[in-house]
Parts: sequence; structure tokens; C-alpha cells
Amino acid sequence: MAVKLKEMFNDKKNILIASLSIVLILGVLTISLFVGIGKMPEHKMQTEVTNMKLALVAEEHYSCCLNKPCSYCLLTEGSCDCLEEVMNGEHPCGECMGEILEGKGNSYVAKYFARALSDELGEQYHDTLKEIISQKYNIPVEGQA
Ligand SMILES: [Zn+2]
Repeated sequence: MAVKLKEMFNDKKNILIASLSIVLILGVLTISLFVGIGKMPEHKMQTEVTNMKLALVAEEHYSCCLNKPCSYCLLTEGSCDCLEEVMNGEHPCGECMGEILEGKGNSYVAKYFARALSDELGEQYHDTLKEIISQKYNIPVEGQA
């Protein structure tokens, strides 16, 4: 009887150790999974988005007015016509409008920015926009569209 009890005790101890190990392993796995999920996406998504843009640029479905093509049009439309819109005096997407004002537009088409942005913001801001573009892109106010 005493031996049996001892065996049982040992069994229980073993089961306890086994369960604890499993809990520990699952815990570590769960934590690394969460850490992994927290870290991965931004990196992975950025690379993915960049690759998608490059592919579309190559297919000529992505002509943006920025130095670094916008993400907005890619994610909402799957293509970008912002450059064409700017050239035609129409406003580009919201992301491009913001980036243009920060000086991140393609400077080769800078003289069309003020007109394109005033299409959305209002003609009353056309002259002010010309001033801003003039400073951001180092081009004269005269000669801007
Ligand atoms: Zn855009």
C-alpha cells in the first residue's frame, strides 16, 4: 500500500511537471507570437506596398506627382493619376496635396501645383499657394500656372 501511494505521488508529481512545462512552452510561444505580430506588419506592409507601387509604375498605371509615389491611390484605387490631374489643373489625392505643400512633390511639375491645389482649396488661395510653392520649390511666382 505504501509503495502504491508513493508511486501515485510520483505520478502526480510527473503530471504536474508535465503540465507546468506545457503551460510554460505555450506561454513562451504565445508571447513570441504577439511580439512577432507587433513587429512584423509595418516592415512587411511597407515592403509590400512599395513593391506593389513599383510593379504598377512599371506597368504605367502609377504616375504620381510626388518624388515618392503616394500610397493613398494605391490602397483606394489600385492606380494613380495624380500627375495627370496636376498637369490638367485638377487637384490630386489628399495625400499628394499634403505632401506637395511639404515640398515633397516632383519639382519638374512644381509650376502646376498652385493651380491644381486651388482647384480643391478655392481660387481665392491661388496666389497664396503660388507663394508657398515658390518658397518650397525655389521657383518664381511668375510663370506658375
Ligand atoms: Zn496621389
